[in-house]
Amino acid sequence: MDDKKRPLALHYQKPIPYTHHYIDQKDIVEVTSVLKSDWITQGPKIREFEQKLANYVGTKYAVVFSSGTAALHGACAACKIGPGDEVIVPTLSFVASANCVLYMGATPILVDIDSDWLTIDIKAVEKKVGRNTRAIIGVDFAGLPAKWNLLRRIADKNKLILIDDASHALGSKLKNKRIGSIADLTVFSFHPAKIITTGEGGAVTTSNKIFYERLLRFRHHGILKNEKLNKKYGAWYYEVQDVGYNFRITDFQAALGISQLTKIDKFIKTRRRIWQKYNHAFSRIDELILPREQNGCFCAWHIYPIRLNDRAKKSRRQVFDFLRKAGIGVQVHYIPIHLFNLYKHKFGYKRGDFPVTEKYYDSALTLPLFPALKLAQQDYVIRKVKEVLK
Ligand SMILES: *Cc1c(COP(=O)(O)O)cnc(C)c1O
Repeated sequence: MDDKKRPLALHYQKPIPYTHHYIDQKDIVEVTSVLKSDWITQGPKIREFEQKLANYVGTKYAVVFSSGTAALHGACAACKIGPGDEVIVPTLSFVASANCVLYMGATPILVDIDSDWLTIDIKAVEKKVGRNTRAIIGVDFAGLPAKWNLLRRIADKNKLILIDDASHALGSKLKNKRIGSIADLTVFSFHPAKIITTGEGGAVTTSNKIFYERLLRFRHHGILKNEKLNKKYGAWYYEVQDVGYNFRITDFQAALGISQLTKIDKFIKTRRRIWQKYNHAFSRIDELILPREQNGCFCAWHIYPIRLNDRAKKSRRQVFDFLRKAGIGVQVHYIPIHLFNLYKHKFGYKRGDFPVTEKYYDSALTLPLFPALKLAQQDYVIRKVKEVLK
């Protein structure tokens, strides 16, 4: 985006964060108009946001939630995953990708990643599919689509449900099909770090009506309310069908989501431009592995993760600390799930279990990439990375 058109207040000259939301005047107008209306929650903006989102990804339905984590929980509940069930999850992800399986009393079976795609390793999945496997949660890491065609083949053969944790990947495509319409259930996050934001928020997209109805009930106390029940028992009547929660999002957040969605093409264009600029600038540093798009993939680039290779003379820690000292808010995505105490103690995972992910984790570093990142800031990041690796 043009520097001139960048948002109003950017209070982050230093350090430059690895990500930042983009809120403009139009977003603010849309939100405040809902705040002045009769419905600040459970009103018409929810359904409007859901329809626009479903339309954008190409599904029949979308259900918006109070967070991406609540949406992941909802997706698992919609599949009726429960105790005794196993769900296969890549260990390179944010911990919520696996925690949602724990919420259901089921067992997450962690697996390694493919070193080129940075997404779930297909051979590892095949090895772990067993009698109790119910679903596979693929993660579109950094916005890079998992190998959904191969996952679909495994799922069909073994009667498994495919859940896509696409928290990074709103707007990404695989073979011209938009993420959101490929898995049976796809989860998005609208946390400010992600492609579009509602403050906190998330969604599940699906074209399956049974899943859709379960998701609506799950979000709202398991309540079932319809005309048939009202006619029979009275206008006040509703049934409670299953265990649900209050995982609703507000109408003013939905209004922000609608407004953000009108800008998504520009957001992604800018993200892709910065990705290309970085890749070009770093192409001759032979100590780095740069993030690449695999064949048939179109990536929205939620983050820009680089890796130090075996030729690097400095450690990742040294490079990280140098850049942080230079006012660049680099990050590491992610600490592998199997290395957290919860997973080590509960399931006996240990270092050495997933060598590809561990090697990735030991060498990775996320540089700033977001639509409001100024050209001068991009150049500064490039200069400092070259300086520390020279
Ligand atoms: C952000 C994120 C989530 C959680 O989303 P929230 O909206 O923060 O709850 C889940 N999985 C992945 C991969 C994420 O990046």
